Amino acid sequence: MPDEVNPQEIIGFLKPRIGARFRTWLKICSHCGICADTCHYYIANGNDPKMIPSYKVRFLVDLIKKKGKVDKEYLEKVYHTVYHECNMCRRCTLYCPFGIDIALMISLLRSLLFSQGLAPDGLVRAIENYKKFGNQMAVTEEDWVDTIEWCEEEMAEELVGLKIPIDKKGAKIMYTVNAREPMFYPQDIMEVAKIFHVAGEDWTVPRKEGWDDTNLAMFCGDIKTAKYIVQNTFKRAEELQVKQIAITE
Ligand code: SF4
Ligand code: SF4
Repeated sequence: MPDEVNPQEIIGFLKPRIGARFRTWLKICSHCGICADTCHYYIANGNDPKMIPSYKVRFLVDLIKKKGKVDKEYLEKVYHTVYHECNMCRRCTLYCPFGIDIALMISLLRSLLFSQGLAPDGLVRAIENYKKFGNQMAVTEEDWVDTIEWCEEEMAEELVGLKIPIDKKGAKIMYTVNAREPMFYPQDIMEVAKIFHVAGEDWTVPRKEGWDDTNLAMFCGDIKTAKYIVQNTFKRAEELQVKQIAITE
């Protein structure tokens, strides 16, 4: 993140994104506090008023009021709140009498920070991996296919005739995984293969990117990469002409 914050960039980012819906939410919040008890951060921090959901989105109003004229320390404070005081579970929205979507506003703040080069290292690394390899764990196509073939061999000893079809055109279901599975938990893929086999399902996994359906880019508001990940999956589904996509994430 650059040392100097550019107020024009902050306002330029926020203005087109704070539409009628966000403005209405920010205006109608009566600060009744009903959402407080619904937030696990509030409860886990001894009912700390700073953890009340409606308070966490104060930065949006503040940034607009200040016309984006804030410093690096201010943005770091926002960072702390949006990453360490809210996990965007949306529980508070279910209890708010107006249905105010705090998580969506937190997500906008995360997007803003991402546009300013402020995001957790782990997520940034995963984003680089998505862009380069199409999955968050930097698994190459060769390793992915090797793992699938190895899983098939292992399981075929237990269930004769078991197959994990790769790129089967016209299959009913295209199955996608979390990239941690080929990397650390191939047994999960094996168990699923067992279920599909016993159920007699017509299924397949894609060879190319689109098989990892985690979307860590979404968590730091990198909309461009988040879209790219989803598009990969749809692209593979269209190519394989499947009827359904099964997503484990
Ligand atoms: S419950 Fe809704 S209206 Fe009440 S403080 Fe929370 S967000 Fe605002
Ligand atoms: S969305 Fe955030 S503020 Fe709302 S309950 Fe979940 S963690 Fe708490």
